Amino acid sequence: MNVPRSRGHLPSELLQLLHAPCNRKDHLGDRAKHRLIALGKFWFTSTTENLKHAFILLFAFSAQTFGAGLGSYTDLIVSDSPATPRSGVRVTYLGTNGYQFEFKGHTLLVDPYFSRVDLVSVAVGSRIQPDISRIADGMRHLAPKVDAILVTHGHFDHLLDVPTVMSRTRTRLIASRSSIDLLRRLPDAGAFPKRFDTVTAGDIRRVGPWKIRVLAATHDRLFGKVPFDQHESDRPGPPQRASDWMCGEPLGFIIEINGQRIYIDSGGTPAQLPPNEHVDLAILGMALPDSRARLPAALERLQPRYILPSHQDNFFRPLSAGFQFGPLTDFPRVKRECAQQNRGRLILLDYFRPWTLPAAVNPKSQAPNPKQRRAKSQLSNGTDTER
Ligand SMILES: [Zn+2]
Repeated sequence: MNVPRSRGHLPSELLQLLHAPCNRKDHLGDRAKHRLIALGKFWFTSTTENLKHAFILLFAFSAQTFGAGLGSYTDLIVSDSPATPRSGVRVTYLGTNGYQFEFKGHTLLVDPYFSRVDLVSVAVGSRIQPDISRIADGMRHLAPKVDAILVTHGHFDHLLDVPTVMSRTRTRLIASRSSIDLLRRLPDAGAFPKRFDTVTAGDIRRVGPWKIRVLAATHDRLFGKVPFDQHESDRPGPPQRASDWMCGEPLGFIIEINGQRIYIDSGGTPAQLPPNEHVDLAILGMALPDSRARLPAALERLQPRYILPSHQDNFFRPLSAGFQFGPLTDFPRVKRECAQQNRGRLILLDYFRPWTLPAAVNPKSQAPNPKQRRAKSQLSNGTDTER
């Protein structure tokens, strides 16, 4: 592409874009959003340094946008009422891609993250740390006993708080080798060596009543590149900056509990789709355009009874500020796509408001998709190990 590049300076077109008015309702006008992504693609090379600049650009956009909340979608928000029976599987949204699943006194967490490091710290590469007070606030909504924590990948908004939550709940972590290697480099890692459980796609873990199947996944690209994508750290020692919290091997999970199936990932690209298997609830990361591009195919495969788009909030703002859509999300498009596909009921959860997954009227919906049973075995990559 014949585009002049000069590091350290923003092109005039980009500056114009930064000053363009935004559509209040969508919190970032579609046209501006597409142009931002296109500009980002040619402007930023694949180095971490330039990705840092991408975050600065994102910050400039976030600063001038009006974060829309869930107010326009109250008809989609579900939560328990005092009359809801306590016998089912209860799902609590913790913000970002964090969830608590509870069933009969047992609890599983996925990607718990309460510190909500601000975008400036990420953009300028400052040292980031878990925010103990915010973690304590978030953990007031958690069950005291946790069977296990599952982590989808090593980015700070999924893994940074996990050691603190692990030490307070004395639970174990189920994650990829790359995520566990990051935590092993922390000064207090010696406190939990036996509680690190390394998994790869195809593995199965049974923890209490939970059956957890580990699936291969991919990570969305930001300006054409997976953020902090390196698998080995450039620097020895504990992770300090956002860029040290490397993506590593992304994972998805199918959690089987109470005769129901929950699929969860943190987003992904059309290059890797979920398995051909009906689920009761599909929690699909939707932060960036790649995961929206794969949405129709993902729904076709999972045929979920309930569709919960995830990772849509602006996770650079504290949880106490309430749910606001992230600057690169596009929930109106997600909603349109789900309506067109007409597979399952689209729902939203607000922070810390539990919802019990209703039992299936026709449990047949939980059977593997017979037409595609053959394809399923081809999907599994990695060895089938169970323990
Ligand atoms: Zn990530």
